[in-house]
Amino acid sequence: MLLQLVLFLLIQCLGAVVGMWLAPEALQIRGALAGMLVAGLLWVLVDFTRGLRVLQWLRNGDVSDVPLKLGLWGEVAERARRLVRQREQETRDSDRRLQNFLAALQASPNGVVLLDAQGRIEWFNQTAASHFGLETGRDLLQHMVNLVRNPAFTAYVGGTSHEASVVMQGRAHSSAHPSRISVHLHDYGEGRRLLLSRDVTMFEQAEAMRRDFVANVSHEIRTPLTVLSGFVETLQTLTLDATERARYLDLMAQQASRMQSLVSDLLMLSRLEGSPLPGAGEWSSLPVLTGQVEQEAQVLSAVLNPPMTGPAQCLNFEAAPPRELSGMPSELHSALSNLVSNAVRYTPAGGEVRCGWLEHGDGRIEFYVQDSGPGIAPEHIPRLTERFYRVDRSRSRDTGGTGLGLAIVKHVAQRHGAELRIESTPGKGSRFAIVFPASRVRPLS
Ligand code: ADP
Repeated sequence: MLLQLVLFLLIQCLGAVVGMWLAPEALQIRGALAGMLVAGLLWVLVDFTRGLRVLQWLRNGDVSDVPLKLGLWGEVAERARRLVRQREQETRDSDRRLQNFLAALQASPNGVVLLDAQGRIEWFNQTAASHFGLETGRDLLQHMVNLVRNPAFTAYVGGTSHEASVVMQGRAHSSAHPSRISVHLHDYGEGRRLLLSRDVTMFEQAEAMRRDFVANVSHEIRTPLTVLSGFVETLQTLTLDATERARYLDLMAQQASRMQSLVSDLLMLSRLEGSPLPGAGEWSSLPVLTGQVEQEAQVLSAVLNPPMTGPAQCLNFEAAPPRELSGMPSELHSALSNLVSNAVRYTPAGGEVRCGWLEHGDGRIEFYVQDSGPGIAPEHIPRLTERFYRVDRSRSRDTGGTGLGLAIVKHVAQRHGAELRIESTPGKGSRFAIVFPASRVRPLS
């Protein structure tokens, strides 16, 4: 500023000197004044031109390089450039923050939809797109209730209370692949709404399974319990002779043992679900394991097929290879003995049950049980490992089955990285096998 003033005064002086020099001697004062006036006008003209250049530069919008460096207008231009730069930087920063924020919402496992005060979609993430079948190009600024045509959803959005959430069918729902979505609205800002959606299909299925399981367990326990209390009442009210008494007590013992098997299978399942995966530290000898299972099978076969009722079953156990298997010994024993006892229980008298081990070329080892029983129709096979799923109910119950055997086998196989294979032909027989990974097998030491 001071420099500008000094420069202006210098030019005025110069104008006065030139005016005096050019004017006749008698009019030198007037000449000096006229010189100053001309110098002032020139100053204004130059200043105006510089001002115009700065204005033009500002209008162009590209403020990367200032048009003037010196003088008052130079300083104005420089300050304007810095101000614009600062604003641009601030805009970039807030844009980056917004992008980060939207990326975080995009990464959310829940669906997120931002609605304006009129209920129109302002933004949504990919999860919400798949929950409601939305498309970015097509559905932005559309009314949400027009796009999601579900009466429960429309009533919920239109209602006044949004404290609870509403559960509805997802866009991809079909009877083969059910999809259930829980939707919750939250108010924010000036009339705006945040809509959150969550896939609750698995949760609902787990809840239904839990209910079914409790109902099944209650049913399984109630039946023997009813029979047992009936016998107790009979014993209490009737005077029976020793033979009848013994027969009743025998039947009561059968029902009690049925309940015992059920409880012990349930405990086994809950242990399998709740305990850590079996490590590779404990090794079981295959010949010893097979020997135990064979002994149990012989006893069961003899109990189920007493000599007076018909021909005996033919149980054929091939010699186990000299190998050891790593895992939880009690679980391995339970899996193998469940497969063998099923074969014995479902194969009629005179039939054959063959068991053994097969060593695969890649180091895996397979335990198989082949029987000449009734076989299983293909539609049942995928469901056999479900809890309480039975193809032949009466045969299962009559032979002491709990409906949990194959569920236990499947769990044990999974926990040991093994695969359960089931092949069966109705009328011909079945083959159940567990293939253990090579990492769990070593030569017998
Ligand atoms: P259960 O205690 O009833 O035998 P499982 O889970 O062990 O229960 O088996 C489920 C169902 O699979 C059985 O109820 C039976 O109908 C069928 N099943 C299992 N093993 C055999 C087999 N070897 N032959 C024929 N059916 C079988």
